[in-house]
Amino acid sequence: MANKVSPSFLSLLKHCKTLKPITQIHTHIIKSGQHSDPFITGHLILQYTLVTPNPNTKTLHHAHSILTHFPYPTSFMYNTLIRAFSESDHPRDSFATFLTMCRNNVQPDSFTFSFVLKTAASIQCSNIGVQLHCLGVVYGLDNHLYVATTLISMYSEGGLVQYARKVFDEMSEPNVVAWNAMINGCVRCCDVKGAEMLYRRMPVKDLVSKNIMLDGYMKSGEVLLAKTLFFEEMNVTDDVSWSTVVVGFSQNGCFDEAFGLFVELHRLGLRPNEVSLTAILSVCAQAGAFEFGRVLHGYVEKSGVVWLRSVNNALLDTYAKCGNIDMARLVFERMPGKKSIVSWTTMVAGLAMQGYGEQALNVFHQMEKSGIKPDGITFVSILYACSHAGLTEQGCRFFYMMNNQYDIEPTYEHYGCMVDLYGRAGELQKAYNFIIEMPVKPTAVIWRTLLGACSIHGNVELAEKVQIRLTELEPNDSGDHVLLSNIYAVAGKWKDVATVRKSMSSQRIMKNPGWSMIEVDKIMYSFVAGEEENEATKEAYKKLREIMLRIRVEGGYVAEVIRSVLHDIEEEEKEDSVSMHSEKLALAFGMSRLCNGSMIRIVKNLRVCKDCHTVMKLVSKIYRLDIVLRDRSRFHSFTNGYCSCRDYW
Ligand code: ZN
Ligand code: ZN
Repeated sequence: MANKVSPSFLSLLKHCKTLKPITQIHTHIIKSGQHSDPFITGHLILQYTLVTPNPNTKTLHHAHSILTHFPYPTSFMYNTLIRAFSESDHPRDSFATFLTMCRNNVQPDSFTFSFVLKTAASIQCSNIGVQLHCLGVVYGLDNHLYVATTLISMYSEGGLVQYARKVFDEMSEPNVVAWNAMINGCVRCCDVKGAEMLYRRMPVKDLVSKNIMLDGYMKSGEVLLAKTLFFEEMNVTDDVSWSTVVVGFSQNGCFDEAFGLFVELHRLGLRPNEVSLTAILSVCAQAGAFEFGRVLHGYVEKSGVVWLRSVNNALLDTYAKCGNIDMARLVFERMPGKKSIVSWTTMVAGLAMQGYGEQALNVFHQMEKSGIKPDGITFVSILYACSHAGLTEQGCRFFYMMNNQYDIEPTYEHYGCMVDLYGRAGELQKAYNFIIEMPVKPTAVIWRTLLGACSIHGNVELAEKVQIRLTELEPNDSGDHVLLSNIYAVAGKWKDVATVRKSMSSQRIMKNPGWSMIEVDKIMYSFVAGEEENEATKEAYKKLREIMLRIRVEGGYVAEVIRSVLHDIEEEEKEDSVSMHSEKLALAFGMSRLCNGSMIRIVKNLRVCKDCHTVMKLVSKIYRLDIVLRDRSRFHSFTNGYCSCRDYW
């Protein structure tokens, strides 16, 4: 009788996706007395673990209790639960289940080992993994294809690639999955040469293998090899290949190529996926490529991915980093669904970088009202906003609030923001006391922040005190020496300037090279001061000479030599070296290329110097040209002779 009924229970069970009907059938099974049938109970347990949406801990433990109450549980029941636990939020429960299984003398099979080894890999617990490997040997399963492949992954994830290799070498006939696992293991351990050797030896290469190699080349900076593989050796490509290459280009700083590839992708009629889209947007953000970002925005709107939160956040970040706060706001306000902490923080940071302190504070309060709790990064942005807008008191309040109301331990970044806050406001002694009273040991970065403030406010005495601390921590930093010598120069202490300069050259301290980028016709051009001449720099120099002459005649420009370079260079050479700063070259190039009325956007890797700042102000007035410059610390928007930073940066 029982055997007659069971198939109908089984087919019913297989169609149940949610918890309620499964529970109902469970009741019927008990009533009909078939709960002692191992086959039926096994499938009942399976169905509990497949509940949609993902089974929660309670459901899984319910399934577990069915198993423990069953007089003779089978390996199928154990395997089902072990797999379910390994994919749950409590992967370690799969180990416990595995131990019970062994204790109850139920023989583990290849599935059992694959599942527990996967858990060991996902929680990177190689210790347990090694023990499981030993047990696998005892049961004679270590050479099984699935088990060996999972062992390879497990060891690679745990950083024990040499063990993985041993398992691989002992496999009699590794299939393509095992080969891929081994190659991926080498890539994960940054052994791209080892990966390549395996890849060449592989009897059958599938698309996955090629994608793994692409990723490996990109991660190890072998852009050329990646390009050869992608463009010359791959006839078939998929979403993963394209996004790997786009992400790879951007992570290796090949912005032009990332853009080019994206255009190509579009031209071929392929749809960029979420990963490539967010990667390319982050390229735009880093490079300040506003025009390209706008094209992408259009694409996002048209292609129907506008509802993806990650894409929206990337778009928001792009506009914020390109200095277009209105567009950033638009994206922010039109964002579908609930805004995430990332969206809010990006908006706060964007406003902060522009110096819109009050607005940043408003967004912060809106976020609190919407029920989203700020995190440490949000507080970095809001403190930054306060310091760049001169809101010292508010900044202190936020620092207090972070610690006391939100229970967030301040990190070095937060301490640095506070030093910057006091420093910018000219409260140098307060900044110094703050550093001394910090519960953690101040880093060079923190002292350097104060040194920068001493430079802005011309406090020689404190600067010397800070410099002593800095030399103890990082004796070879060129920036510190340059700053100190500038402080001396401003105070007219030429002897001291010479001493610093001498000690710099005797210790061979090199200045960090500055670069600037500008986008013209959706192509990024980068300029480095003093680099070899090429077509673009020739054009830039020619235009720059004309600009400098005009601002000298019409704007009364005199090079800010003393503040901007070291003193003991010959007068003429001095003016030359400031006039060659990369941001000036980028500006000149932009002006020679762009038609009237367009805005100039420049990104610079270092802080803009006083002289370049003055030149940009004058150009914005005399040429009636709006310029946006993003330097290492903030945005400067120049209009009609003024800068949004109010000469305070
Ligand atoms: Zn400069
Ligand atoms: Zn400025």
